[in-house]
Amino acid sequence: MKKKATHKKISKNLAASRAHIWTSCPGSVDFEKVDNIFQKNSEASIGNLIHKISASHLEKIKDGKKGYERVLDFNKFISFINFTALSIEEKILFEENQEEIHNQYVFYLTRILYELENFPVSGRSPEILVEYRLQYKNIVAIADCILYVPDKYAVIIDLKTGFVEVEAEANKQLLITAGLFKKFHGVNEVEIEIIQPKHKSIKKDILNYIPKPQEILKEFTAEKGKLKAGPHCLYCPSNDICPELRGQIEKYLNPKYQDTAYNRPAVWSELLDVSKPIIKTMEKIRSNSLNYLKLGEEIPGYSLGYRGGSRAWINTISLKELSIFKRAGIKELFRETLKSPAQLETELKALIRRMKKEGSGIKDIRKKEKIDKKIITLQEKFESLIYKSEFPVLKRNKENN
Ligand code: SF4
Repeated sequence: MKKKATHKKISKNLAASRAHIWTSCPGSVDFEKVDNIFQKNSEASIGNLIHKISASHLEKIKDGKKGYERVLDFNKFISFINFTALSIEEKILFEENQEEIHNQYVFYLTRILYELENFPVSGRSPEILVEYRLQYKNIVAIADCILYVPDKYAVIIDLKTGFVEVEAEANKQLLITAGLFKKFHGVNEVEIEIIQPKHKSIKKDILNYIPKPQEILKEFTAEKGKLKAGPHCLYCPSNDICPELRGQIEKYLNPKYQDTAYNRPAVWSELLDVSKPIIKTMEKIRSNSLNYLKLGEEIPGYSLGYRGGSRAWINTISLKELSIFKRAGIKELFRETLKSPAQLETELKALIRRMKKEGSGIKDIRKKEKIDKKIITLQEKFESLIYKSEFPVLKRNKENN
């Protein structure tokens, strides 16, 4: 006799790192994953790189490789990175403070290791697992690092390289990871820790309750296919094509919500939950459309327009921001090839003529000349930086206005 299925078959993997989306909106996993050629997330790819470097360092420490113990030599681990494959923005992001992130993470872990080795839990030294993959049916988790004493105790450590502050308490990704680890390794006590060097923070939570993977799967299956919009939509890769979120946008535009303040407060919290995802989704749609036009494609009613940059002085914009803005390396911002000799000669003659007319002495002329040259050079630099650049923008065609 055929065995009765306990739940509908799920064909896609449920990544713990995306649990904040699929536990709130089970239907989100049904969208086909399409690589967005327009939206390259530099922060995320640099984050992945740092994870790889840190994991490689930890592996060496774990294997007791000579010269790597407690050594925070970042340069040993970046040799395998193909820097030419990184975009300018990525290079800048990488150079900015990634070494510090790596060092803080590895330093913290080596300290925990040292403590556990010297003051072992229940007389046993911990094992270290790096980039450890756990899977129960469709649920998959990859832990950055797990320190554990078999059958006893585990510390699940997660490195967050971004700016968005992440809490350890009720963290869905790490709760699921803990559930999977407990299932396969039988530990009684699990602690989760989030290291976030950009906030110089380490957040911890000793779990009172560890969910069973089979229960998570059961819950997911019961709601399978259901779309539910909320703050989690902000991180959903399908937010620009999702009918549920579109429905929320239409709801937001419904005239009944646009009247007096009298009946707004009742719906505000509901609408505010989706307002940020909606704003971000709209920005994504604009930026994708712009890139589409840049490829030479057509959008009815729209064309590619250009505008010059606005004035920006060195004290109002940092060099790094400017180089990201200009998509140029910092050195490239200071090209000295400014004026042709003929142009300078004409300017110099005009300057001398003016000085003579004003009756200044030759010494003053030379002094003034130097200053003027400097001013010209500076002006040119900024002109070439800001005014001569053209920024593509979406332009609404006149006949459609
Ligand atoms: S945008 Fe929101 S509602 Fe739509 S699939 Fe993603 S998480 Fe679900």
